[in-house]
Amino acid sequence: MMAMLGPAEIRDLAELLGVTPTKKLGQNFVIDANTVRRIVKAGGVRAGEHVVEIGPGLGSLTLGLLEAGASVTAVEIDGRLAEQLPKTVELMQPGAALTVVHEDALRVDALDGDPVRLVANLPYNVSVPVLLHFLEHFPSLQSGVVMVQAEVGHRLAAAPGSKVYGSPSVKAAWYGDWRLAGNVSRQVFWPVPNVDSVLVAFERRTDQLGTEDERLATFALVDAAFQQRRKMLRQSLSSVFGDSARASTALEAGGVPPTERGEQLTVHDFLRVARDGWSEGA
Ligand code: SAM
Repeated sequence: MMAMLGPAEIRDLAELLGVTPTKKLGQNFVIDANTVRRIVKAGGVRAGEHVVEIGPGLGSLTLGLLEAGASVTAVEIDGRLAEQLPKTVELMQPGAALTVVHEDALRVDALDGDPVRLVANLPYNVSVPVLLHFLEHFPSLQSGVVMVQAEVGHRLAAAPGSKVYGSPSVKAAWYGDWRLAGNVSRQVFWPVPNVDSVLVAFERRTDQLGTEDERLATFALVDAAFQQRRKMLRQSLSSVFGDSARASTALEAGGVPPTERGEQLTVHDFLRVARDGWSEGA
């Protein structure tokens, strides 16, 4: 019995379930076993590990993770797909260690066991919020690899000063280091999406950057800074601190020139302003 899903199996399964892939749920299914194995390899998945997959869909990647010997918890919002997945797995890899959670991934904040890796072909419309949500709620997650829209992947992996550096870049950096791990052809999906995809890998940082209050304060600054990314920080942060004079005081307390723009600041810079500037400027 073949252990992976190809184009014919994916279409047959969709037809069997009466599933017409929806754009709203970002349903573009991988139909290429080589791509699946590439993702599993890029994720560094080892036998016996507990891996969480978000959006297993018809099961292409799930089967790849199980083939590598991982035990998989798969979180799927679509009831028809969540119900079918254990049956598909039982047919193709009997006895494999799979738990399916039928839920919106954004609402999941506890799972049985502590997953150490996150591997997913993420639904494009919610990829960043879902990623940040899981990193926040599952400190056991040490590393992972996700397939996302190319533009989003470049943002996640961007360094300060880059044109695409933005709020997702800084927030992702709060949790760890991110790097691009390769391009993925549109042709490996059904239906073929109208955007390019990339793989992005992350490793969680070993040191916790700050407390929960400091994280919230830092993220509030990041949001304000990038809402008006072309403005100097003393202006873009004026609404947060009350006015631009107070914003300047806060920035200086954090060691950041008030005339700087958000796109120049590392996550550490934002954190210093949140930590040292809040009491000064607010
Ligand atoms: N992993 C499968 C693959 O590679 O073929 C499917 C990937 S498809 C890009 C995204 C999957 O995420 C779909 O199965 C979709 O139903 C599911 N999904 C969308 N939004 C979700 C959410 N908020 N929580 C959990 N799953 C979601």
